[in-house]
Amino acid sequence: MSATKPLPESVLISESCLQNRIRELGTQISTDYENRELILLGVLRGSVLFFADLSRAIFGAQLTDAGREVQIRFEFVQLTSYHNSRKPSRVQLIHGGSDYLEQRHVLIVEDIVDTGHTLKFLSEYLRTLNPKTVKVCTLLDKPSQRQVPVAIDYIGFEIPDAFVVGYGLDYAQQYRNLPYIAVLDET
Ligand code: 5GP
Repeated sequence: MSATKPLPESVLISESCLQNRIRELGTQISTDYENRELILLGVLRGSVLFFADLSRAIFGAQLTDAGREVQIRFEFVQLTSYHNSRKPSRVQLIHGGSDYLEQRHVLIVEDIVDTGHTLKFLSEYLRTLNPKTVKVCTLLDKPSQRQVPVAIDYIGFEIPDAFVVGYGLDYAQQYRNLPYIAVLDET
């Protein structure tokens, strides 16, 4: 059993609000990639719930518009990052990324963009694999925390500077299975 004490949490984005916005993103993405093959590249582990719902929302948008087809493939990468205020951020690839991405349309699916270091590292790494296009879809964006500029094509929600959990996002590996986004009250 984990020794970490669970902290009280308050809902920031409800389950229904998340699902409505994800449906909108699915419609937009299926329009933008109509009649193409798209590789959804999930960033483990935080994006898994968003990835699963977004991929189904893209499919759902096709059902409501019979002429539209996007062939979706799944790929994943796993990264670690060490943030320290006195040293430059260091991000490393643990797993994933392959030559298969060469000349393909790739959509990075992220849980949250905070300082931007993770996304910058991943974008630079992907460039070495020579994909046809790379775009970025993040569920959450904390623009007030940005340290490096990054381009984001699809944003679920902009949120204020708070540590959030749920819907894939963790605190010490807890809270990932909450169906909503919550702010941890550390008092
Ligand atoms: P960045 O490199 O943009 O600073 O951070 C990206 C990663 O930091 C995210 O993929 C996530 O793992 C973690 N992160 C940043 N902000 C939060 C937050 O508010 N809550 C949680 N649970 N993780 C966060």
